[in-house]
Amino acid sequence: MSDPLLISPNSILANALLRSVDLLRPRVHARRPARIEFVVGTQINGVPHLGTNLVQTAAFLLAKIARREFGIEAMVRFGALDNAPYEVDLDPDTHHAYQRTYVHALGKDRIGEIIDGYYRAFFDSLSDATDTAYVVETYSGQQATPAFRAEFLRSLDHIEAIRWWLAPSHGVIHTRLPCPDCGWAEKRGERTRLTHLDEDGARFTAVCFDHGDYEVHIDPEDDSPYLDLATLYRNLVKERLAGRDANVLPVMVKGGDWAFGCQLVDGALGAMATPPLQVPMRVFTPQVLAPTGAKLSKSLLRERGTAALPADVEPWMLDTTAWPGDVDHYVDALL
Ligand SMILES: [Zn+2]
Repeated sequence: MSDPLLISPNSILANALLRSVDLLRPRVHARRPARIEFVVGTQINGVPHLGTNLVQTAAFLLAKIARREFGIEAMVRFGALDNAPYEVDLDPDTHHAYQRTYVHALGKDRIGEIIDGYYRAFFDSLSDATDTAYVVETYSGQQATPAFRAEFLRSLDHIEAIRWWLAPSHGVIHTRLPCPDCGWAEKRGERTRLTHLDEDGARFTAVCFDHGDYEVHIDPEDDSPYLDLATLYRNLVKERLAGRDANVLPVMVKGGDWAFGCQLVDGALGAMATPPLQVPMRVFTPQVLAPTGAKLSKSLLRERGTAALPADVEPWMLDTTAWPGDVDHYVDALL
């Protein structure tokens, strides 16, 4: 095989940066944080694929390098998105899509088992190899905290200013409030309405395809009912929250497919007058591409069937449990 022509993506930063970690330096100088947290979110929807593990590996490596470079403690915070859709169904009458999340379908214990089964040994190995501590939290745990709810309620005050950023094609933000009887929620929130908002909280009405009309009250103290936000909205609330602790510099580590979406999150952060130094830094990792230049996507390939697999895709790239070796060996290869 001849030498590959391209081994590293060039970028406009070629003359400005010596190393990727230098991206963080202006923020480290401006904020003087006590700790840097590299935040990675991953949908808990089955077996991880190579791209997922690459983003996570980058977070651990960056933490190690940042600690050495800036002399500041650095760790990894892993957010397990257990609100990923587990099943989607159409209301036979209205044809509105309804969905049930992983945590609603499987329960908290099973989610814990999935995280342990797919990620625990991998993270432990990465943690050893990079001498970096990590914590795991679930989206369900985050959304239940008073701080997350307070931030969500604050965003409702600005709903007119943020809704086109978070839903640029139609202006309807998807706030999913599962039915208290069955746990299903309208996927696109067509019949979910904010009916009242004051300092005590927000009241919504929604319609279940099985149980009819219901009402949901979200307040800053109460940890129920469940609050499931669509991707861009969830990131707005998460980033607003992450930026509040002056002692911590949060760095969001994301796959490169997020680069476009973050402009919309930034628009919403700006519409809420978020101070620039409270907008988290973000590092985008390279994507694994198919020969066509498209992202090597598990879900797209699943739709096309295994016959559509490019010839150079090894089975472990889409199902990392198929790696022909132990976890430490896999982590060594990624590092
Ligand atoms: Zn229901």
